[in-house]
Amino acid sequence: MTPDASIIRLIIGLRQAGITNTDVLSAMERTPRDFFIPPHFQDHAYEDQAVPIGLGQTISQPYIVAYMTDKLQIEKTHTVLEIGTGSGYQAAVLAQLARRVYTIERHKPLLELAEQRFNELKLRNITTLAGDGMKGWPATQQGGQSFDRIIVTASCEGEPPVALLAQLKIGGMMIIPVGAQGQTQNLKLYKKESEEVFGVQNLLPVRFVPLLPDVPRNNSYTQEDLEELTA
Ligand code: SAH
Repeated sequence: MTPDASIIRLIIGLRQAGITNTDVLSAMERTPRDFFIPPHFQDHAYEDQAVPIGLGQTISQPYIVAYMTDKLQIEKTHTVLEIGTGSGYQAAVLAQLARRVYTIERHKPLLELAEQRFNELKLRNITTLAGDGMKGWPATQQGGQSFDRIIVTASCEGEPPVALLAQLKIGGMMIIPVGAQGQTQNLKLYKKESEEVFGVQNLLPVRFVPLLPDVPRNNSYTQEDLEELTA
């Protein structure tokens, strides 16, 4: 099947699975998922499943990408922060819908690949950062500005990082999986009503890789780890 035919089949599947937001569906239709998948797994690029991207990480299942994007109700004027760039696929989908996307990844080698993909696809409204997203976007680089929407694509144990809730605008929303590895995690939607008051909704049981603190040291990658990224 040609990539075009595969994308269309994926979109039809998403619609059947209950994603009806046409803006979200067309953003997914315009984003070639095969670009974000390592060569070895190309056959699975348009299947509705998570796929390994190296360093123990995965690109999320398309249904979950569509579902999270839909729940965030993104508008064209919005500034969105993503924690966990991974392959860059979710950021690329968000970039079709929002004014600007800021995305943070703790694994530099993954971020560099994602940056290459954004360049090739001429996605100019994505700003990337290698770092620990649990700390939020560094104030100096964003003028202390806060975000309309925040999406976390790794699961946190216990409460969501306070730095992220703090960087959400009043009226803003954050979607985040909460729960330990090996247990059922809960996809939660936080709505910031005021500086102190948050509405919280439980959306869906999910399985994400863990949200981890700090950044790995550059020399913590083996040659094998790095080869896996493009194999
Ligand atoms: N959104 C991604 C899915 C990535 S999987 C995609 O579309 O492909 C989750 C990613 O979160 C992993 O790459 C992992 O390294 C990253 N991550 C985990 N903890 C993090 C943290 N504290 N800061 C930034 N990235 C983090």
